[in-house]
Amino acid sequence: MTKFLNTHGQHLTFLVKIINKKSISLILLLSILSLFSSPGLSAQAGGDSTNSPIAIAIHGGAGTLERSKFTPQLEIEYKEKLKEAIQAGYNILKQGGTSLEAVERAIVVLEDSPLFNAGKGAVFTSDGTNELDASIMDGQTLQAGAVSGIKHIKNPIKLARLIKDESPHVMLIGAGAEEFAALHSLERVSQFYFYTERRWQSLVKAKGKMAKDKTTEIEKGTVGAVALDKNGNLAAGTSTGGLTNKLYGRVGDSPIIGAGTYANNKTCAVSGTGQGEFFMRLAIAYDIHARMAYGGLDLELSANTVIDKLSKFNGTGGVIAIDSKGNIATPFNTKGMYRATIDKNGNQSIKIFKDE
Ligand code: ASP
Repeated sequence: MTKFLNTHGQHLTFLVKIINKKSISLILLLSILSLFSSPGLSAQAGGDSTNSPIAIAIHGGAGTLERSKFTPQLEIEYKEKLKEAIQAGYNILKQGGTSLEAVERAIVVLEDSPLFNAGKGAVFTSDGTNELDASIMDGQTLQAGAVSGIKHIKNPIKLARLIKDESPHVMLIGAGAEEFAALHSLERVSQFYFYTERRWQSLVKAKGKMAKDKTTEIEKGTVGAVALDKNGNLAAGTSTGGLTNKLYGRVGDSPIIGAGTYANNKTCAVSGTGQGEFFMRLAIAYDIHARMAYGGLDLELSANTVIDKLSKFNGTGGVIAIDSKGNIATPFNTKGMYRATIDKNGNQSIKIFKDE
């Protein structure tokens, strides 16, 4: 019936013939209204133009990234992987793919690398296990998917996307999430897959340091991507192993919509990295959106203001953010943040340190 009402006069004529006169005026009214109505949840700005610029930004975590800690070779390795990830995402946008696909693709490249704290390179919990979190959000529909406490799924971002697309929920955790992944034949791995000597040594070090000095910075990191596609749709995604030596069962900001990830075509798409507890309390990603939506701030000012606020609370971290015109902001208050952008003019930039 709705389909008939939403389509042509032809169908309407058909309907008029088969129903009584009282209903005719109601049907006419409904069909006129349907001409003016927007398609359900996709009532956000954008999504209707095919001439939008395309742009993408990714991050691989923020922290005490000082030049002295990098050999030239290691710096190249990180930058090469960031380049591979951003180009994988950008190629999708260039071929007319969606921002969601681009975000997912770029994050998969980073998850598959042992260099970043997500997927393969995930850090260890205090129990010596790996528990992964991820989320993804569509700025057109405001639909989102998230997972937490994942132990056996190779690419948690794919599972987050699956939950968004194929379930009535936003977040699934632990065993339930993994069963859902199995139903959809997502690639499963043993916990050994996530073992890397580097992350194991970080756990050993953190346990020693934590016992002596509770203020010691422990190894963390996260990966994320935000993108704008040619239809004017924004998307954001984030994936992480969380914090080294985190308590078993701890959930960070990365899978929390509004904290570590947020996207809305009306304003921006954001992915964060840093001390998750602060990002959750300050609703960092949503705050950037809100200052634009209600305060009229532009992307750069909004993102900078929110990172200043994070500093005032003694929290550390950064964000990558993109608006519906393709402007990009990447503020952070740490010594560095692995980051790469391809802006609306096609210019690529790949950086690690603050002074770059
Ligand atoms: N935000 C992540 C978490 O708290 C860690 C990070 O981004 O460094 O789980």
